[in-house]
Amino acid sequence: MENKIIVLGAGIAGISAAYHTKEKYQNVEVTVFEKTNDWGGLCGGFYIPSPQGEFWFDNAVHLSFAPEEYVQKIFHTSSEPIRHIPIPTNYYNGTWLKHPAQNNLYPLSVKEKTLALKDMIDNHNSKENLKNFEEWLRAQYGNYFTENFPMKYTRKYWTVEAKELGTSWVGQRLYTPNLEEILEGAMTNETPNTYYAQEMRYPKEGQYRSFFKSLANQVNIIYNKEAIKIDTYGKNITFSDGSVETYSTLISTLPIPELVQITQDTPQEILESASYLKATSVAIVSLGFNRSDIPKNLWFYIYDEDKFFARVYSPSYKSPANAPKGCSSLQAEIYFSDFKPLETLNSSSKNAQDFFLNHVISSFIDMGICKEKDIICKDFRIIPYGNVIFTHDMEKHRNKVLQYLQSQRILSCGRFGEWNYLWSNQSFLSGKNICDLIK
Ligand SMILES: Cc1cc2nc3c(=O)[nH]c(=O)nc-3n(C[C@H](O)[C@H](O)[C@H](O)COP(=O)(O)OP(=O)(O)OC[C@H]3O[C@@H](n4cnc5c(N)ncnc54)[C@H](O)[C@@H]3O)c2cc1C
Repeated sequence: MENKIIVLGAGIAGISAAYHTKEKYQNVEVTVFEKTNDWGGLCGGFYIPSPQGEFWFDNAVHLSFAPEEYVQKIFHTSSEPIRHIPIPTNYYNGTWLKHPAQNNLYPLSVKEKTLALKDMIDNHNSKENLKNFEEWLRAQYGNYFTENFPMKYTRKYWTVEAKELGTSWVGQRLYTPNLEEILEGAMTNETPNTYYAQEMRYPKEGQYRSFFKSLANQVNIIYNKEAIKIDTYGKNITFSDGSVETYSTLISTLPIPELVQITQDTPQEILESASYLKATSVAIVSLGFNRSDIPKNLWFYIYDEDKFFARVYSPSYKSPANAPKGCSSLQAEIYFSDFKPLETLNSSSKNAQDFFLNHVISSFIDMGICKEKDIICKDFRIIPYGNVIFTHDMEKHRNKVLQYLQSQRILSCGRFGEWNYLWSNQSFLSGKNICDLIK
């Protein structure tokens, strides 16, 4: 093996790849090139100043439920965790329900409960040969609940209709209660917590990325280096500042549709396959409050389609260090994509920032979450890559692109490098495992 290894991207996958490569191989020179001026990628965050002090936010929710002992050890030696029992809630038509809603229908009106339960009990939708996510949902939960809860949420979170999605990503993400649990949850609010993770962890200090700061401190990262051209024949990379670096091994965590675009001489059919790979983007609205009692729990989901945000979480609930003393915070996530551009939600002549800040604030007031006078700082920003969208042909096209990258000896890893629904621990392991492929 020659010894000059370049890693593109200083998110959790790139940092993990660089760290583990250095650990595994002696006499190698490993450098991470990052296009922004900081490390962390999606696991990073930002702060907003206020008269009371700084409010810290992550790029969207970010809590760790890593089951792997190895990942936990790295995360927790890097930063002491706060341990939360995950008890999210749901907002639906002016009502708050425990999560997951399917086995916690208790607060709904008798009429709605009857409709949902009747449908769940009479559910003869075939559980065999389910062709898409909508069929999967109907088979699990019956038609009424499916149409009023997960199909609405799918439009908001995945930005497409449920029938446009496959089901390979579902795994244990959606709970499928038995009839007893459904009936019990319709008659009482005293139900057990059935959320798929038993514990959610978050660093006491320094936001989410602190979980891998000890690794970041040990790798060589060069900032403001955006890769714009890769020559796999000459084994060199050109950056936007005009500089050129040669490599013996290239590890990339870039989104693969962008990676094939900047790789020289990529065949047209690969570019075409890459054009089928779509991801959601996330517009995040972050608010700081002059009171500590605004967030009632760690996070909640919103089903109503006139409220554009799908999910809201509280950074100050994750760690008090994220807000000045006596204050609290919330962040709302609005998803959009090529299938549902952000502009289609903005019916006014206002710019996006003003429109979405107003939308979230007036919705929060309407939902009884806060009053205008409680808000002491606000921020709007966009995360360009959120979730990979599992449209039907996605996996076929993704595999074709990945095979091509392999043939060019580009080792691609991480959430957008594998083009998969990876949590941060999985992206971390993706970076670690890629080292085994270095020849
Ligand atoms: C809304 C949302 C909520 C999430 N919540 C959780 C959660 O609660 N728990 C959890 O475990 N996981 C969560 N995740 C998943 C987690 O964020 C990802 O698994 C992880 O951050 C992906 O890391 P990565 O290094 O693969 O990619 P990224 O973090 O995207 O890193 C890629 C890096 O490459 C850089 N880059 C891009 N282009 C170039 C270029 N041309 N040249 C050089 N550098 C470049 C980028 O700036 C970035 O720093 C969430 C994700 C989202 C979207």
